[in-house]
Amino acid sequence: MPTDSLPTYADVEAAARVLEDRAHRTPVLRSRRLDELAGCELHLKAEHLQRVGAFKFRGALNALSAFDADQRRGGVIAYSSGNHAQAIALAARETGMPAVIVMPHDAPALKVAATQGYGAEVVRYDRYTEDRERIATDLAAERGMTVVPPYDHPHVIAGQGTAVKELLEDAGELDVVVTPLGGGGLLSGSLLAAGALAPQARVYGIEPAAGDDGLRSLREGRIVTIETPRTLADGAQTTHLGHLTFPIIRDRVTDVVTASDEELVTAMRAMAATLKQVVEPTGVLALAAVLSGAVPDTAGRRVGVVLSGGNVDLGRFAELVGAP
Ligand SMILES: *Cc1c(COP(=O)(O)O)cnc(C)c1O
Repeated sequence: MPTDSLPTYADVEAAARVLEDRAHRTPVLRSRRLDELAGCELHLKAEHLQRVGAFKFRGALNALSAFDADQRRGGVIAYSSGNHAQAIALAARETGMPAVIVMPHDAPALKVAATQGYGAEVVRYDRYTEDRERIATDLAAERGMTVVPPYDHPHVIAGQGTAVKELLEDAGELDVVVTPLGGGGLLSGSLLAAGALAPQARVYGIEPAAGDDGLRSLREGRIVTIETPRTLADGAQTTHLGHLTFPIIRDRVTDVVTASDEELVTAMRAMAATLKQVVEPTGVLALAAVLSGAVPDTAGRRVGVVLSGGNVDLGRFAELVGAP
């Protein structure tokens, strides 16, 4: 598949075969207490328990598995605020190729250490003044490496779609599916899966309130670019949707809504108090919007929620969740 063509559900099915036995089939968590708080029946896809602690491993391994012999020799380069970096680093190690990761200076220390721990070389940049895509493209040309972007890539989108494919297979019929939204890899893959397996389900993407470029893009019918948003949701600090993710989202999503940082903390606390789970701020975007009532018409419904990641420094987690 050329890297500029729109993926389909057949690509999600192919990704599922690639990932079988190599990515975890993560559990779908239930909690009566959380259902009471939300006023609906929640089915929580636990991607914070995925390898590297986020769904990003799915797209990364699927993309690297499609490399030809030349690309494998040169290796992979990625730019990311964290989870895509760790995912590419581990996927590169598993497929036996070198990896360079371009990461911002203010990326969480845990994420940088984990990326280096998987054997990748880390190159730092300033996310508020420098262009990471440019840095990655220049390095790639210099070293003969292949760039795998964090969301705007057909194999990445197809890989991310396998999480909601599993959720729909394991949870049974759902009325609503809700996922976090950054650059749109997870949401567009989820839309492909839901379109095939649950065409009746409503699907929502949830952005941080400070970074509502996806919502604005949907309303304006074009890709709207914003300044790097300042939000607790560091995994969704994207400035724009992609050329592949935008048309899929535009044509298939029910709607995009937002969650505030305060609502993210409330949802993190609810996950810790009920299911005793550590989920990162970006990882609870979808849950936060269901709990706050921002997702329309969930009362009494069967609602699938993707918990997208769990990589948060524990000191930071305690600070956020422990505060009164
Ligand atoms: C990357 C990421 C997202 C956003 O995914 P996109 O494919 O960019 O929309 C959400 N949650 C976590 C934990 C992530 O790492």
